[in-house]
Amino acid sequence: MNWIKKTLRFGEKIKKIIRERASKDEIANSDWTSCCKGPILKKDLEDNLMVCPSCNKHHRINPRSRFDIVFGKNNYDVLETPIPQDDPLKWNDSKPYTERLNSARKKTGMSCGIMVVKTNIKNINLTAIASDFNFIGGSIGAAEGEAFLYGIQNAIENQQPFVVFTSGGGMRMMESLISLSQMTRTTLAINELKKNNLPYIVVLTDPTAGGITASYAMLGDIHLAEPGALIAFAGARVIQGTVREELPDGFQRSEYVEKTGFVDLIVERKDLREKIGTLLSILLKKNSAINTTINETTEDSRTLTKAAS
Ligand SMILES: [Zn+2]
Repeated sequence: MNWIKKTLRFGEKIKKIIRERASKDEIANSDWTSCCKGPILKKDLEDNLMVCPSCNKHHRINPRSRFDIVFGKNNYDVLETPIPQDDPLKWNDSKPYTERLNSARKKTGMSCGIMVVKTNIKNINLTAIASDFNFIGGSIGAAEGEAFLYGIQNAIENQQPFVVFTSGGGMRMMESLISLSQMTRTTLAINELKKNNLPYIVVLTDPTAGGITASYAMLGDIHLAEPGALIAFAGARVIQGTVREELPDGFQRSEYVEKTGFVDLIVERKDLREKIGTLLSILLKKNSAINTTINETTEDSRTLTKAAS
């Protein structure tokens, strides 16, 4: 029976290793994170816009960092959006939904998972929104739907383009049908934006999935994506289990999705500001109500004009 004793001892060792592993909070509060070459200082990543200098992985960032990078620090105003009643279905799974909401708010400093700002790029005023993946996986509930609609309303009232940075796993199951109805609401709001001939640019960031992909993330005039972002509806394992076929390399990543036509351009984080600015200039020039001047002679502009047409 020696082997039983040995197995038990081995089990104890494994338990000890698991116990000694850093907790999620400890990792979040540490100066270090990890990428392709092992540990890397968060500061070094931040200095490079949270993009790994070795493998070019675009690490996830929160809305404020996103706006700082694309629109410039202190070059945007955060708009306060209406917050509907919390937890309308009194949802309780492994813990109450209200508890999840409270800890998400504490963690992110946001009242819901979407931040709305008014800002400008290349002298073009615009409304932009971004989701925070740390807010219950960037999922969409009634409050996020309200924030989206508030953003579009602001864009229409001020006759401005609307730019969305997507991120999230889909609709929020704790709000069941109420969250699913946000797919319809956001789609109808986008139709209103389009009736006003206002540009709608979507920037797909890692990860964009589920009902987000099935609604507002795929309705842009232009779809940009950061390199390597997961862009999917259902998960790869679910698809593989259904079709019973080996899925191709890079399945559901930006580069693959670009080939299948759902993404127009893959843009590195450092180039987003320039590309969005040029695209908006091109799109607004098409709209006779708003005149902007652009230099269309560069190769870059020609490529973007092609993407915009
Ligand atoms: Zn890396």
